[in-house]
Amino acid sequence: MNEITTINRTQREYSEAAKKALARAPQLFINGEWVDSSGGGTIDIEDPSSGKVVGKFVEATDKDVDRAISAARIAFDDGRWTGLPPITRERILHGLADILEANADELAELEAIDNGKPKGMASMVDVPGAISQIRYMAGWASKLTGDTIPPYTMPTGMMFGYTMKEPVGVCAQIVPWNFPLLMACLKIAPALAAGCTIVLKPAEQTSLTALRLADFIQQSDLPPGVFNLITGYGHTAGDRMVKHPDVDKVAFTGSTEIGKLINKNATDTLKHVTLELGGKSPVVVMPDVDIAETAPGVAQAIFFNAGQVCVAGSRLYAHKSVFDKVLEGMSEMADFWAPRASLDPEGHMGPLVSKEQHERVLGYIEAGKRDGASVLMGGDVPSNDGGYYVSPTILTDVNPQMSVVREEIFGPVVVAQRFEDLDEVAKEANDSVYGLAAGIWTKDVSAMHRLASKLKAGTVWGNCHAMIDAALPFGGYKESGIGHEQGRLGIEAYLETKSVIMKL
Ligand code: ADP
Repeated sequence: MNEITTINRTQREYSEAAKKALARAPQLFINGEWVDSSGGGTIDIEDPSSGKVVGKFVEATDKDVDRAISAARIAFDDGRWTGLPPITRERILHGLADILEANADELAELEAIDNGKPKGMASMVDVPGAISQIRYMAGWASKLTGDTIPPYTMPTGMMFGYTMKEPVGVCAQIVPWNFPLLMACLKIAPALAAGCTIVLKPAEQTSLTALRLADFIQQSDLPPGVFNLITGYGHTAGDRMVKHPDVDKVAFTGSTEIGKLINKNATDTLKHVTLELGGKSPVVVMPDVDIAETAPGVAQAIFFNAGQVCVAGSRLYAHKSVFDKVLEGMSEMADFWAPRASLDPEGHMGPLVSKEQHERVLGYIEAGKRDGASVLMGGDVPSNDGGYYVSPTILTDVNPQMSVVREEIFGPVVVAQRFEDLDEVAKEANDSVYGLAAGIWTKDVSAMHRLASKLKAGTVWGNCHAMIDAALPFGGYKESGIGHEQGRLGIEAYLETKSVIMKL
């Protein structure tokens, strides 16, 4: 643990490509062009590894939002995208994926600078993950078929019916700051494959990679107006998008609190809504595990992306016979997860995204201590050089009433509890308003499946955590969301089904 405090956390030199991206004039991408905002407002780009302001982007006005939505509406209604042969949409999406692949290193660096995550992690997870979403959904573009009902005879004559899949229309897509490029591509890929048009808004903390994504879309064969980018605040620009009468669908990933607000705001015009919200995911460790494999796995489940993951394994339930050993194994990982500057090649965890998030997470740790929790590891701020660092933290002696156990902390903080039997742990794991994901660690296949069926969660992992596949639907139970992304359900969420029935 002492070694953590000796790490040099100074941010490394940016590449020339990154410097250029940071120095760009603040503009919005509307109707295939970079345009100035109707107002002069800007928002600072901050590097969370140093707390320094390193650039600016547009704070969009209502007028900017209206302009972007109007461009998307016209592009949808005139059929310039929807009307293309599906195989052409597929080709164009693969073309975009090719461009992203060719610029992967720059995208990973920008994500690291903007969000604080290690560049190595962005290179391994965020950028390839984003590209996979586009490639997977590209394939669906040419496979969106309906059903036919064979002709049959009624007293009035012969009837024949079929269904058609049609794109929902103009989509407002609002994404969070924890996986900015990945979340943006996870949203735009199914919408574009379905034939929809888009206005995308990245989070105000992390707009850099979305701006570069717009550059790459401009270089692709996507017709103008099909993808439009608005940068700005949620309560202003985001709110305008959600309430706009020309928007047919809202897709949002973020906090449960804002998701509930968005759901209400989208109701007046009865928009289609997909919500991917918060979580407080349980990780259950059974008595038969191999500690050497499990302890690093459950540490990664919470410390990956500094715990700023909606599916973070933030509630650990270890069987009483292995509890101490699992925690000991996790504590041995303290140096591995010690936070470092995002461009430090040795780093596995970076700072938190912002000052606000830093204060929020430290506030939870303090509340936990006040409520009687013990800090087994971390709990401190390992540097005071301006970066938003928090040490990987394990809290024990917790109970189900504590805020650290009930609420989503969205930081590198795990609460560890003991359990004795399977039924008891299933009840405790389900004692949450959230139901996004859960993890089970065991060699006992029967116990694994029995527990998986009892857990109220949209995704259950066995002997791994946070593994996402573009082909597997992802969605939350309870207050963790509405609808699904990824897989066949993910594209269905951007389609209407029309039934056509005829008397022949
Ligand atoms: P977090 O709490 O993780 O910072 P939020 O849920 O506040 O995340 O934000 C996620 C995304 O939602 C961001 O792009 C943010 O700008 C946007 N947002 C925030 N408030 C609103 C709102 N009232 N309407 C629409 N979008 C919003």
